Amino acid sequence: MSQPLQLQSYVGGRFVGARAGAALASAIDGRTVAFAHADELDFGEAVDHARRVGVPALLALDFQQRAARLKALAKFLMERKEQLYAISHHTGATRADSWIDVEGGAGTLFAYASMGSNELPSGNLIHEGPAMALGKKGQFAGTHVLVPRRGVAVHINAFNFPIWGALEKFAPTFLAGMPSIVKPATSTSYLTEAMVRLVVESGLLPEGSLQLVVGSTGDLLDRVDGRDIVTFTGSADTAAKLRVRPNLIANSVPFNAEADSLNCAVLADDVTPDDVEFDLFVKEVAREMTAKAGQKCTAIRRAIVPRKHLAAVTERLKARLAKIVVGDPSLEGVTMGALASRDQQRDVAERVAQLARGNTVLFGADAGFAPRGTGTDQGAFFAPTLLLCERPDMNSAAHDVEAFGPVSTLMPYDEFDEALALAERGRGSLVGTLVTRDPHRAAHAVGRLAALHGRILVLDRDAAGESTGHGSPLPSLKHGGPGRAGGGEELGGIRAVKHYLQRAAVQGSPTMLAAVTGEHVKGAAVHESGVHPFRHAFEDLTVGDSLLTHRRTVTDADIVAFGGISGDFFYMHFDEIAAKASPFGKRIAHGYFVLSAAAGLFVSPAEGPVLANYGLDTLRFVKPVGIGDTIRARLTCKRKIDRNKVGADGRGQGVVAWDVEVTNQDGEVVASYDILTLVAKRTEPAAA
Ligand code: NDP
Repeated sequence: MSQPLQLQSYVGGRFVGARAGAALASAIDGRTVAFAHADELDFGEAVDHARRVGVPALLALDFQQRAARLKALAKFLMERKEQLYAISHHTGATRADSWIDVEGGAGTLFAYASMGSNELPSGNLIHEGPAMALGKKGQFAGTHVLVPRRGVAVHINAFNFPIWGALEKFAPTFLAGMPSIVKPATSTSYLTEAMVRLVVESGLLPEGSLQLVVGSTGDLLDRVDGRDIVTFTGSADTAAKLRVRPNLIANSVPFNAEADSLNCAVLADDVTPDDVEFDLFVKEVAREMTAKAGQKCTAIRRAIVPRKHLAAVTERLKARLAKIVVGDPSLEGVTMGALASRDQQRDVAERVAQLARGNTVLFGADAGFAPRGTGTDQGAFFAPTLLLCERPDMNSAAHDVEAFGPVSTLMPYDEFDEALALAERGRGSLVGTLVTRDPHRAAHAVGRLAALHGRILVLDRDAAGESTGHGSPLPSLKHGGPGRAGGGEELGGIRAVKHYLQRAAVQGSPTMLAAVTGEHVKGAAVHESGVHPFRHAFEDLTVGDSLLTHRRTVTDADIVAFGGISGDFFYMHFDEIAAKASPFGKRIAHGYFVLSAAAGLFVSPAEGPVLANYGLDTLRFVKPVGIGDTIRARLTCKRKIDRNKVGADGRGQGVVAWDVEVTNQDGEVVASYDILTLVAKRTEPAAA
């Protein structure tokens, strides 16, 4: 990147912006890397394009097809990741920092592709069942559904992770069938722009599903309405300003904020300097101070340690920090790069000055600090800086002031509960770490700290080898915290997708609810033909296809034989006297016998399209089955999911869940469950 780039927004299906605007400087040497554009954007067009073009194009695909697109996009970006690494360097990031952003971003796409494929249905409606009966005769029921909002999501991001920050919000939004307008922080928007250019080049996304705004959002937030969503990552001040925009309030537009947070790590008082956990704590604090030069919303800002070990922690932490080599991240041996901009450097210096009032600087903040290999003073470097707050109960600066850089403050405590009280003074954090060997301390602390933390890492020697670390949000776990941390919630598996869908309760007869949800609902009409449902290929099977089996009377011989085969001689099945004294007052059949007998009743044994039974869901033994009871089963196709998968033989296959109800001679349900099967298709899978 020798010549500065002219950045463009991607709005209305084309790249726009030709006039040079603000110059964006390299964090390493201050040279201009790119120019934002000075051209004003038409946000009416952006919103209209998302709604008119993006929504229908996204909803022409279903959850499963969108998951497949996400996977293809993740692969596409991974194959071109070096193009992004080459630019990322200018944000001040080391290769390891960029890995979090570039591969972490693509990895989040992969993770959402996989969760979408495994957990979401075909179609564009999620049934949050089960339906519940609302009347005595079973003809009126209620349930919940989640559907696409048919609006647009505006994602406003921070400067620190220009790629991951955009993709971790985009992935669940896209899966939900909602178009995104992404607005990165201007200072590092050249990296987001490069990623969006690759996305557009891939041709993998339906037009309108992703638009990019470089620079100001203008009147965009005044154009959204109740169908839309705004998400924000950045400073608490901006979050506070944006969430009270009159238009957002007037239209009840959901606003999800993730703001700065004074995350803590607590070294519990059971750990001694000789324990492995002591060094785990020190290592975690040092890593969180220096990874991405401390510009992580999850970084440890407050390290809370037993007063008796303060000197030992200080010594070991300083020794680790002394080994950090700050400089041009493209040079061999450099372990910490620069802050993202000179503005950020000034901001961190001011915050450190505030923190230093009444506290002691133990390390850094630094006279004589010279970053390696830059040859200029125009970079945005900052030395790792460790402070000590002797009276954290009295001095509130360290609980209030966030220096968004390689800065952390040590705080001593005497009693363990004091440590927890100090942790709570962050007034809501994204993440906290507790290092302890004692499960009782862990249970006590988490019970209290979970109220004010989005995520808690309990670290000990057992977990250390596989720990993903204090600072890493994972696609499968919630990211976001209460209070000061913004009060929002991101990631956390499929629940993030649900943030971009609208939930509605639906009431009606079971047959209507089955039609609405696309799933069999208990009490709904079923279709019985002369053909066993197991004989239908996936395409030919219809939700509601059903079989009522012949009957079977359970005998003493069944129980004895099943006990012999399984080795299960539990008194309830074999001890006449004990069984009499039990709540059932008699010997009863094994629940697993009832399951097995039901399979024998409904199975269609000859070779056919049902390829595998891979498990049961929601199994309940509702009533006991005694000797002389006569059972039968009803098997009904409950749900079909087409994951566009192909078996080893090259034939397409889909997932079918079957509702099974086993009843007795009085028509009472004795067992109820879902069976999960793979069913072969007649044809090859449709292209995603
Ligand atoms: P800001 O809050 O200033 O900016 C965050 C985003 O909001 C940027 O994209 C910014 O765009 C945008 N923005 C700012 N004002 C408006 C507005 N009026 N309307 C619409 N969008 C707006 O935070 P910074 O990124 O500058 O970081 C400042 C501080 O935020 C850090 O020092 C740190 O404390 C905290 N932070 C927290 C993070 C977290 O993940 N929780 C991550 C990064 C920072 P533009 O760049 O164009 O101004």
